[in-house]
Order: sequence, then structure tokens, then C-alpha cells
Amino acid sequence: MAIDLNRTAHEHAAALRAGEYTARDLAEATLALLRRQEDALNAYITLTDDLAMAQAEAADARLRAGEGGPLTGIPVGVKDLLSTRGIPTTAGSRMLESFVPVLDCTVVERLNQAGAVTVGKTNMDEFAMGSSTEHSAFGPTHNPWGKDGLDRVPGGSSGGSAATVAARGVPLSLGTDTGGSIRQPAALCGILGLKPTYGRVSRFGVVAFASSLEQVGPFGRDAQDVADLLQAIAGVDPMDATTADVPVPDYQEHFQRGFQGLRVGVPAEFFGEGLDPAVRQPVEAAIDAMAAQGATIVRDISLPTAPKALPVYYIIAPSEASANLARYDGVKYGFSVTNGRSAEDEMSQTRGQGFGAEVKRRVMLGTYALSAGYYDAYYLKAQKVRTLIRREFDAALEQCDVIVSPTSPNAAFRLNEKLDDPYAMYLNDLYTIPVNIAGNPGLSIPCGFADGLPVGLQLVGRPFEESTLLGVAHAYEGISDWHRQAPPPVA
Ligand code: GLN
Repeated sequence: MAIDLNRTAHEHAAALRAGEYTARDLAEATLALLRRQEDALNAYITLTDDLAMAQAEAADARLRAGEGGPLTGIPVGVKDLLSTRGIPTTAGSRMLESFVPVLDCTVVERLNQAGAVTVGKTNMDEFAMGSSTEHSAFGPTHNPWGKDGLDRVPGGSSGGSAATVAARGVPLSLGTDTGGSIRQPAALCGILGLKPTYGRVSRFGVVAFASSLEQVGPFGRDAQDVADLLQAIAGVDPMDATTADVPVPDYQEHFQRGFQGLRVGVPAEFFGEGLDPAVRQPVEAAIDAMAAQGATIVRDISLPTAPKALPVYYIIAPSEASANLARYDGVKYGFSVTNGRSAEDEMSQTRGQGFGAEVKRRVMLGTYALSAGYYDAYYLKAQKVRTLIRREFDAALEQCDVIVSPTSPNAAFRLNEKLDDPYAMYLNDLYTIPVNIAGNPGLSIPCGFADGLPVGLQLVGRPFEESTLLGVAHAYEGISDWHRQAPPPVA
């Protein structure tokens, strides 16, 4: 029997429970499809057949016993930044090409406990630095949505995780978001992607890029699936002191809220210069649709410092990256040049050959910003502006329950279009980066198309109120069909 792989995770979960097919059947069908899609998409760095089959059999045993939950037996793609025991974890870099972790990161451990089936490690920009997945050492991922064949990037840095969910390869995947790397690829691929509140999800075992900004989060094709995956991974972790001991609500319980009485804030700063009119149009239409359902649109909220978030990010993120990436010295683990003239020469050759151009650019920026004499002028100043931005979000979210904006100023661009222009690449994250700077949760949902390419609507909520965002997303799915649109099959 052919399994319908267009199904969402909760549809598969119901079918598994009804005995329509087994988790083993589903894993086999999924891996066969992924293999066929890979020539076109390159969404994975590693496919994990053996692990998947073992996990599927364990899931079947639980299901037969009437146990397990919504993720039991469900195929999931995991960004290759997340440590997986016994499975290569490359971070998209030559530096970690042969690195095999000895333990699972906390979120993967929680996925395993939930009975999910890990089918592979997804492609990504090297060390999560990028907005197109073109900075992967393992070749770019293609967006299943294109205009002239598969000519478009999937966004990044979690482009593999987004592309495989959009292409119906898996119903769910995990990414990480430091400045937009879940929301922007979700938008460009026409699916949902959630960046949780800073501290909501453990970073233990996640290869570090910019520790004060990043969070692991889910991709999916409807709010219920995203809620189920967040439910499994969220919550305090003794192994990560930056996780918050804030109770995790039952996210499904918030699905009743609807639009009546909802205050939707629309900040002018997110609709200004640089926004493609073809993207603005569906975003405005989505806001109108919410208003027609009874939401109150609040247009006088203001985030005057938000436009400064991009320069602030490009001080703070590279600074943290330069410190975090200092560990790749060719001695402890990872790629190593061992035939140099001296220890220093070997270290410099290791880093010279192991890192790609974008990573080197970030390390240089960060080292400069943190160097003696410049620290006050750059890093300290950036931290002060960060505080202002955080306060502005707090104030705005007193006047409304959710802030909406475009997720990205443009739809998916062509491969190679922005590769030689870092600044043009950085501008993709104009609307997502402020949310990481402030630490709030952000969710991108599909809201239409710009010249045939998907457009995302960003929802931003109060800290730890992911439930509000998921409730709004669910309500919007009740009045629209955008989340059901599929790209043409790639294989
Ligand atoms: N595109 C941004 C960057 O290059 C954000 C990346 C991310 O969120 N990991 O840094």
C-alpha cells in the first residue's frame, strides 16, 4: 500500500494508531522518497537509515502496546548543528566533517523519548551563518519552490530543514534561529517555523554560534504539528543554565482562542524601505483578514530602534562567534593540519582550510569588535542598544497581544544572486533579527505568494507566550488555505 506522504504529523499519528501502516512502513517510504528527492534538493548532509529503522521498530512496539504520544513513529529531520550520538554532526563545515558526537543534545534526547524517528541530518549554512544555505561546505540546498526549475534558495541557515518539509519529504524538522534561520527559510519555503523565546528550549549539545541569541525550534506544515514538536522539546534543562524554569503550557489548549478580542500590532518600522511590494501585498491582506474576523488592528505601536537591530546583531553575533569558534584549533577535535612548521602554523592552516569565507569574515569582525580599545565603542554600545530594543518590544506588547510583520523583505531569491554581496544577504533578516535581539518568540506562517513564490507572515509575542502565536496561526489556518499549498513534486 502506498502511504500518502503529504500528510501532516498528526494525520500520520492517527493512521499509525489506527493500524493503517506501521512506523516501519512510514520510515521506509520516507527514506525512499528522500533518496529520490536528494538529487534535486540536497536537503540532507547525512541520511540515517539504520537509526531510523531501529527507532521505527521501537515506535511500533510502543504503539502496539497503546503507548507513545503524537510524535511516536513520526519521521523528523534534524539540523546538522545538533549533536547526535554516533551520527556525524558537521555544522555544515569541513572543520567538523568527520566529527561524531558521543552524546545526543538535549532536544534530540527529548525527541528520542517522544518516539520520533530521525531520518537524517539536514543541510545548513556553515556554523549557521547565512540566509541561503549556500555557505554549506556540502553544496547548496534548493528550494522546492522555483520559477525556472529549482532556481531558488530555500533561505537559511536551516535551509535543509525547511526545504525537506516543504517538499513533503518529512512532516517535521528542527532548525536553529540566531537571527532568523528558522523563520526566514520557513517563509521562503511556504511552511511554518517557530523561534521559541530565549531560554525556552535547551541549547545543550548544539554547536554554538552566538549563544545569547540562538534557540532550537520546529518547522512544520500546520500549527498543530509545530505545537506538538515544541511541546516535546521545550522546558528547563539542568544541562543548560540559560534555560528558564517557566512552566510549559499545553499548547493545544490555546487553539480555541480565535480572533475575537485579539489585538494585532502593526509597527510601521517593519513596512518601510526595502520591503518588496509583492511581499507587502499578501501580508497586508492577511492583516485585513484577521481584522474581518474580529481582531483589533493596532497601528500606533512603535519600535523606533528596531532598524538598528541589524548593525547591533553584526557586532554581537560575530563577537560571540569569534569566542565560540576559538575551540577549533586542530588539537581538540575536528579537522587538523598536522604537517606544519610549528604549532602556530598548524593552527593557522587548520583554521584557514577548515573554515569557509563567511565564517572567516565573522571571526575577523568579532575579534576586531572585542579587541582592546574597541570594546567600549562597539560591543558595549551594541549591548546598550540591545537593551533599548528589548524595552521597546516590552512596551509595544503591552498595547497588543501579537506583533505582525513580513518575515522577510523579499521572497526566495536565485542561487548565487547574493553570494558575493554579504550586505544584501544580511538584509534578508531585517525583520527577524530584532526578535532575537529582544529574546521574544517569533513564528513565521505562510500567508500568500509573490509572483508564485511563498510569502511568510511573522508573528511576535511576549516572552514565553508561544501559545498565543500558535493559537493565532491555528485560527488563521481556519480562514485560509496557504499552509496547504504544495510545490510541484521534485521526484
Ligand atoms: N542569517 C543570519 C546570519 O547569517 C542569521 C543566521 C541564524 O539565524 N543562524 O547570521
